[in-house]
This record gives sequence, C-alpha cells and structure tokens, in this order.
Amino acid sequence: MYRKNCDRCHRPSYSSSEHGMWNCPICGNDLTAYPFFNAVTLERVGAVPKGKLESYRYVLNNGNQ
Ligand SMILES: [Zn+2]
Repeated sequence: MYRKNCDRCHRPSYSSSEHGMWNCPICGNDLTAYPFFNAVTLERVGAVPKGKLESYRYVLNNGNQ
C-alpha cells in the first residue's frame, strides 16, 4: 500500500499500485509524479526515475490522440 500527499488539498491518498496515473480523490490534482510513501511506515519509497516518467507520459499523450 502506497501513500502520496497532495499539496493542493493537503490530504493523503492511498493506492495499492505504483503504476499508472494517480489523481487525488479529493481535489483531482495529478499526483502521478509525486513521491511514494509507505502507507504504514510513512517512509519514502523509491521515486520514479525522471526519464522513465517522461517517456511514460509521452506514451499516454500519444495514446489519447
Ligand atoms: Zn488533493
């Protein structure tokens, strides 16, 4: 279980997957690029490499056209 903190509404959100898009369920802010935290220990989990994330977004954008 992962947790991310939304800096728009300042609420935590939780997910069981580190893959795919992650939008804040409260305000809809895009948290995909935000760091992961362990939902239990609140320790930071390995961040997504920047290049990897950008290539992922590239695929997403092309898929929407
Ligand atoms: Zn939010």
